[in-house]
Amino acid sequence: MNDRPALSNLATIDAAHHLHPFSDMKELNARGTRIIERAEGVYIYDSNGRKYLDAFAGLWCVNVGYGRRSIADAAYRQMQELPYYNTFFGTTTPPATLLAQKIASHGGEKLKRVFFTNSGSEATDTWFRMARVYWKVLGKPEKTEVIARKNGYHGSTVAGASLGGMKLMHEQGNLPIEGIHHIGQPYWYAEGGDLSPAEFGLKVARELEEKIDELGEDRVAAFVAEPIQGAGGVIIPPETYWPEIARICKARNVLLVVDEVICGFGRLGAWFGHQYYGVEPDLAPIAKGLSSGYLPIGGVLVSDRVADVMVNELGDFYHGFTYSGHPVAAAAALENIRIIEEEGLVERVRDDIGPYFAEAWKSLEDHDVVGQAESVGLIGGLQLAADKATRRRYAKPDDIGATVRNHCVENGLIMRATGDRMLASPALTISRLEIDEVVEKLRAALDHLRDTVRE
Ligand code: PMP
Repeated sequence: MNDRPALSNLATIDAAHHLHPFSDMKELNARGTRIIERAEGVYIYDSNGRKYLDAFAGLWCVNVGYGRRSIADAAYRQMQELPYYNTFFGTTTPPATLLAQKIASHGGEKLKRVFFTNSGSEATDTWFRMARVYWKVLGKPEKTEVIARKNGYHGSTVAGASLGGMKLMHEQGNLPIEGIHHIGQPYWYAEGGDLSPAEFGLKVARELEEKIDELGEDRVAAFVAEPIQGAGGVIIPPETYWPEIARICKARNVLLVVDEVICGFGRLGAWFGHQYYGVEPDLAPIAKGLSSGYLPIGGVLVSDRVADVMVNELGDFYHGFTYSGHPVAAAAALENIRIIEEEGLVERVRDDIGPYFAEAWKSLEDHDVVGQAESVGLIGGLQLAADKATRRRYAKPDDIGATVRNHCVENGLIMRATGDRMLASPALTISRLEIDEVVEKLRAALDHLRDTVRE
């Protein structure tokens, strides 16, 4: 540790050796990377000693907040006792098995089994193969097509990026792979036109029915969606959307996959996003809040419907990762979930801090450049608008979002922008005072946008 070079040199070393995810490296190297050194609660500190309120919980993941000594202790103990063993050849480790049981205890009546991965992307690849295998075992090998959504995000592996609906990702690496189709997203503000949100929710949900009918019910394996689209801009669907999606999947005999990577583990004020929306997935990828990001771990929650086939009829599932159910990551995740339970964080988001956040966030709608400010639990999306009355958006959405985000960061608030939407997803432990700070700093950035950009 003490051999570490002076932090002042790190940016130079970083530019020489480190390729960053989702980054324009030329631009980043010219600007210099920001070096985050430590964190506590909802605050992070950089190498210049600057403090920022992290309203994004890392990358939607640090649900219990930074600086949890007990998670570090649990990992340390496990690493000393058994740093690694696999779960492949008829073996398991205590933390892996106990974690599967613990996750299942929150999954409701029908999600009782877990397949472990290291990340959300691997969880995507895992359910993608499971869904196809499921139908094959049931004597329907032609049921292979998977329907996803434009602007959805499911990871960066080949299957993940293909299932995601991000055009810029598809353009790199000849994606999507075969057998993947995208339908519209429930983004009423931008695409709802003259329809009410409720009408629009039904309309886009019914695109699923149309797509299944176009492809043929006998060819469609699954439909996947995030409860609330996260990376796509915190797109909160109208109330009518999810019940209609669930109805269609059932009527057309298509597996429903709900991507819980962001919404799982309390973010919406329920243990899982599907519980908030009252739907029952057949498969549900998880990651992020599972360990609050303290160590990498993900998985797929598997319903009895799919598990019965996997367990009783399939034989070997030729799939798995060296670190599936890694004991140290599992021990950290177990302690993380214990904290969520003991501190009642899910209930806190539902009954206390979530409603407080909702009101504070909504108050920004009075601002001239805000078209809409919506939230569920502790996830918020704020739509910037050039003209509120007509829902007209700025001509260069990416520049506009970046302007607001940069102003926030300069003032000690970490926010994310997707195009012209500002996104918040703070730790579930955030206090009222800290929420006030988020809203105050964001408001200052909105003032800056109003005063500097004219359209
Ligand atoms: N699904 C969703 C909904 C996500 O938001 C993400 C990551 N942001 C992933 C999958 C991929 O997870 P990971 O980055 O851990 O591979």
